[in-house]
Amino acid sequence: MGSITNDNYKPPLDKTPRVPKSITKSRINNFMASESQFFDMGIQTAFWELRLSGEPHVTLFVYNVPDTERISFQDAVSRKFEKFNVQETEFAPIWSTHWFHVDVLIPDVMNNRKVVFQWDMDCEGMVWSTDGVPLQGLTGGTDQARHEYILSMNAKAGERYSFFIEAACNAMFGLSYGDSMVPDPTRTYKIKTADLVVPNEDIQALYHDLSIIQGIAYDTDDDSQRARRALWLVNEVIDRFHARSDESIKQCLALTREFLSMHNGGSQHKVTAIGHCHIDTAWLWPYDETKRKIARSWSSQIELMDRYPNFIFTASQTQQYEWLRELYPIVFEKIIEKEKAGQWEIIGGSWVEHDTNMPSGESLCRQMLLGQRFFEKYFGKRAKVFWLPDSFGYSGQLPQILKQSGCDYFFTQKLSWNNINKFPLTTFWWTGIDNTSILAHLTPAETYNAAVTPAELHKCVVNHHDIEYSNQSLLVFGNGDGGGGPAPEMLERLSRVRDVDGIPTCVPGTVHGFFEELVAKSDRLQSYKGELYLEFHRGTYTTQALVKYGNRKGEVLIRDVEFLATMAKIIGRDKYRYPRDEVDKFWKYICLNQFHDCLPGSAIGLAYKDVHKFHREVISQSLLLRHNAQSAIMAYHATAAPKATAENEGILVFNTLPWARTAVVTVPEAQTSWSNQQWEDGHELVVVQQVPGFGATGFMGTATYFPEIGAEKAAKAYRLESGLFVLENPLLQATFNKDGQLVQLIDKTSDRLPLIPQNSKGNMLQLYEDVPTNWDAWDVEIYHLQKYRSLEGNGTLKIVSSGPLKAELEFRQPISNASYIQQRISLTCIGKRIEFDNFVEWHEDRQFLKVEFTWDINSDHATYDIQYGVLRRPNIYNTTHDSARFEVCGHKFADLSEASYGVALLNDCKYGYATHGNVQRLSLLRSPKGPDDQADMGQHKFRYAIYPHSQYFAASDVMHEALDFNVPLSLRYAQGSESEINFTLGSMFVVTPSNRIIIDTVKLAEDDNDRGNIIILRLYEGYGGQASAKLQCSLNVSRMLVSNVLEDDTENVLVAQPDGYQLTFKAFQIMTLKVYLAV
Ligand SMILES: [Zn+2]
Repeated sequence: MGSITNDNYKPPLDKTPRVPKSITKSRINNFMASESQFFDMGIQTAFWELRLSGEPHVTLFVYNVPDTERISFQDAVSRKFEKFNVQETEFAPIWSTHWFHVDVLIPDVMNNRKVVFQWDMDCEGMVWSTDGVPLQGLTGGTDQARHEYILSMNAKAGERYSFFIEAACNAMFGLSYGDSMVPDPTRTYKIKTADLVVPNEDIQALYHDLSIIQGIAYDTDDDSQRARRALWLVNEVIDRFHARSDESIKQCLALTREFLSMHNGGSQHKVTAIGHCHIDTAWLWPYDETKRKIARSWSSQIELMDRYPNFIFTASQTQQYEWLRELYPIVFEKIIEKEKAGQWEIIGGSWVEHDTNMPSGESLCRQMLLGQRFFEKYFGKRAKVFWLPDSFGYSGQLPQILKQSGCDYFFTQKLSWNNINKFPLTTFWWTGIDNTSILAHLTPAETYNAAVTPAELHKCVVNHHDIEYSNQSLLVFGNGDGGGGPAPEMLERLSRVRDVDGIPTCVPGTVHGFFEELVAKSDRLQSYKGELYLEFHRGTYTTQALVKYGNRKGEVLIRDVEFLATMAKIIGRDKYRYPRDEVDKFWKYICLNQFHDCLPGSAIGLAYKDVHKFHREVISQSLLLRHNAQSAIMAYHATAAPKATAENEGILVFNTLPWARTAVVTVPEAQTSWSNQQWEDGHELVVVQQVPGFGATGFMGTATYFPEIGAEKAAKAYRLESGLFVLENPLLQATFNKDGQLVQLIDKTSDRLPLIPQNSKGNMLQLYEDVPTNWDAWDVEIYHLQKYRSLEGNGTLKIVSSGPLKAELEFRQPISNASYIQQRISLTCIGKRIEFDNFVEWHEDRQFLKVEFTWDINSDHATYDIQYGVLRRPNIYNTTHDSARFEVCGHKFADLSEASYGVALLNDCKYGYATHGNVQRLSLLRSPKGPDDQADMGQHKFRYAIYPHSQYFAASDVMHEALDFNVPLSLRYAQGSESEINFTLGSMFVVTPSNRIIIDTVKLAEDDNDRGNIIILRLYEGYGGQASAKLQCSLNVSRMLVSNVLEDDTENVLVAQPDGYQLTFKAFQIMTLKVYLAV
């Protein structure tokens, strides 16, 4: 090293002019930069003292995996590796994998030095030991890079190192390019760096010191003495810096260390820092790549924990842990060790970081049941903090579900993305629609990818809305996705900011510890009631319609399966096997697909191949399991009656909702003539009456079993002289024009005036131009409401059936040259529901299809179906908070009611709604072009319905009607003796009255072990008020207790009374009952 003394660099102050702050900053920027025209005069140029590449120091061999397959280590190393030209070889295609065998020979010049292998192929990689241990991940490129793998802290000349790199031709953000994030199919990769390097550790340490001091100068209180001093100090270090002089570096370090050793006063804000790696379970890459991202990221973090013993890291999403356990058991074992040692914190408790807008109530419960049980099984504990930093808004029913799932605390930051109003609170009691509260913290740093910078720490103070009474915040740091989590430089900074005057104190800690301290030290927190609506990403309720369809159908069918399989088990006992493994698998698929970039529709097309495959499997296999359970019930149901000699035919009708139902159904067998009234495509329509709730009834195939629908009770379709068409039954009369638009609706049971105001219509199909400001798949922007056209003028309405059981109209309306909608509108002889059954051929570019109904109803809010309850939202644009909800999420219905009347708009697989004044809209299809440029192109089928009802919402039966619409009766054609067909299986469980308390799930308990002895019931009060009811159970119950989502045993045992178990619900309460049978 040279012997330049620093006196040469320090002229007396009074001999130099005062330098303006901005010029000093420019000088500092150049000195600190990783790229600039003056790079070779900056500090980063001196990070590495020695650098060698190529043979004999580094020898590379490659095996290129064909067909974008992802193969195991064992498989890879058994293949033939070949030498290649490092400079010239391009690696492709996208998503392909290339295994490199790296041989290193330590040269004399690196003897006794720390030697690092530096690798940059612009993509992601995993370093494997030669005996198959995943050692750490690598991230190529310059953004959030991770290029270094430490070979030895003290290498010896002549030593050899050998290892593998599994390089994947995709980067942190998949293969996206441009704002649209569509993968670039032409991208190729080259090895840019494969070097041996020796670090200059003093210079790197100086750089880390300077990055803190520079941050204090730039990003804290600009005019404070401390910030001004910081700026001057960095300037002074540049004056003294000489890369080749150890003495100079020592002097620089003495300056920075003195500055950093000055401490804060006792009142300083406290930041708890937790390492994290937000790994999207699928997004700009498919699930299979995520499996590798997890292994790369988490093995990197384990390696860092060894180097930084104070470092604590947290990871959520038990699905990711399960993949790791299956595919990388060595890494999983290490995580268990690190968790025990206190450096790894399990968090979240849900199966994935799911969307919370669209999953059903039961899905939200199952996310927690699957997640917490996994943590309990492998870590012996549950997560107490619910963790959704990135999901697009938070359901108002979450606090209750979380509390019943062992979580007292909730963390997020996503509301900082609001694009209209700033969310007003940081640390607060989040109160759900049922009044359950949990403690919530929204990091004021407004990121879950922090880098431990003074700017972030300062933001924790100035952006903290509740700092008067809660002087703490959480910093979640680390690169997400393919970035591998916290990088070493972040940990270097973290080690320097424990207590530095000018920035908050920042110490590593667990999230759980942070919340425990928060609850103890926060004296007067505010509360916030209801949903945490994200004023952003409102297109996600509609984008990728097929994933929405798969989610709803999957949820409905798996529920059918669980109930019917429970029934079959109770009836069949040892003869029937409860399909536990299948149900578990399908719930895992459903929950996985609810990941916050899958269900919302914001992933790439490749990811949806898997998503749709899983949904298809859930649906087809659930249908099969349901069929099997029904067959078992049919075979095992108790009947003492002797077999009749004559063979008969008929249908068995299964009702998986808890109330008795009467409906028009279609006989599955073709060409019957049982009631001889109406056929559709060769199949007969019949009315089945009073099928008991959670039960089944058989109907013989003869007229005596089915009521005859005379003219006065019939559904009719007819054409008026005016050219208008009418659908009518004893309760309703609906008039349509040739375009299928509803021009009038009259409720014949009510004295109300016609329901459609003058000059208005319903069933108006509208096409909105849908060009957001960014985030194509995610966002529909407020101004889209200003630009639309109605699809009308080309209608071809005709009568398809004129009754008497079901009357039906049909029309086809072009949308564009490439797209059209075909719709069937029907009304049966039973009830007040008009159904709209749609087929759409859809090939549009950034158009948004909606259907609109205008009603003569006056209200300042609309009511939306959410998980196990409803949410009232304003339908007015008075304030910016009202306007921001111009598009909202609802499940099976949205209702618009005034004092004594209302209309609900139901759907069977949609989630986007808007209500403005007396106008109701349902969002049907979008056509964004990124990140999937084929999103939603093709054919779609969906249904919606209108349901006019007397009374305001809370006194109506809208929720029941919407369930009827979504959970149809299931039918089995049967042949056999009369006693085999003509039977009724009453419900095992009946709630009386059933108008407010709904039994949703009936399943065998997780711990039942296929004995059929423990049943779980989930019930809820759906309409929003206290309600009492009796629960009657026809089974031999030994004990019934109030459990929770996790199916824990409790002391809260219900006492049987002669007329059943007395249940009292608060508004929107969810109750899980655990029923032990005496066997
Ligand atoms: Zn995410």
